[in-house]
Amino acid sequence: MVRFEHVEKTYLKNGRSVEALKHINLDIQAGSVFGIIGHSGAGKSTLLRLMNGLESPSSGRLSVLGQDLSAVPAQELKRLQKQIGMVFQHFNLLDSKTVFENVALPLRLNKVGNQEVEERVSALLDYVGLTDKAQIRPHQLSGGQKQRVGIARALIMGPKLVIADECISALDVSIQAQVVNLMKDLQAQTGTTYLF
Ligand code: ADP
Repeated sequence: MVRFEHVEKTYLKNGRSVEALKHINLDIQAGSVFGIIGHSGAGKSTLLRLMNGLESPSSGRLSVLGQDLSAVPAQELKRLQKQIGMVFQHFNLLDSKTVFENVALPLRLNKVGNQEVEERVSALLDYVGLTDKAQIRPHQLSGGQKQRVGIARALIMGPKLVIADECISALDVSIQAQVVNLMKDLQAQTGTTYLF
C-alpha cells in the first residue's frame, strides 16, 4: 500500500535547513492497521503529507497504492488522492453545511448524482450512528459525534487507505475508545488499510 525507500525530507526555514525525515524505509501492507508514534517534531505529519502527495521528498523514492509518487502526473495524483481518506484531529467540518452535506461533499465535488448521494450518505450516517443528526450543523454536535462525521466523510469515496492524524487526541478520554472501536469495526469489515 505504501513504500518509502531511503526517503529524506529537508525544509528550509529562515535560511537554515531542518531535517524532518532522515533515511526512512517503510512498508505498509494492504489491509493492515499501522501506527506511527513519536514526540512532537519527530516528523509524523511530514510523513503523512508525503504519503498523500501534499509534499515531495527531498530525496529517495516513495510509492502509494503501487504508484511512484515522484513520477505521477498531476491528473493521476488527483485520482490517487481520491482513494485516500483523511481524518483530522480538529475534524475540519464546514459549519455552513449540515452533517449530511459535510459527508456528501466529496461526492458532490465528484459530480455524483443526487439519488446516489442520498443512498451512500444515508447508509454511512446510519453506520456511524448519526442518522438523527443528518440535518443539523456540526457545532451542535459533541466532539465524538463530530469525529464520527469526519470518519464518515473520509470513508464516503470508498478509500483504499485511511490516514488518521491524531484523530482522537482532541476528544475526551471516555469518548476516545468509542471512536477507536468504530474505526476498528469499519476496518475489520472492509479490510481498508488504516494509518494512525
Ligand atoms: P510531528 O508531526 O511529529 O510533530 P512535523 O512533521 O510537523 O513533526 O515536523 C518535523 C520537523 O520539521 C520539525 O522540526 C518542524 O519544525 C519541521 N517542519 C515541519 N513542517 C515545516 C515547514 N513547512 N517548514 C519548515 N519546517 C517544517
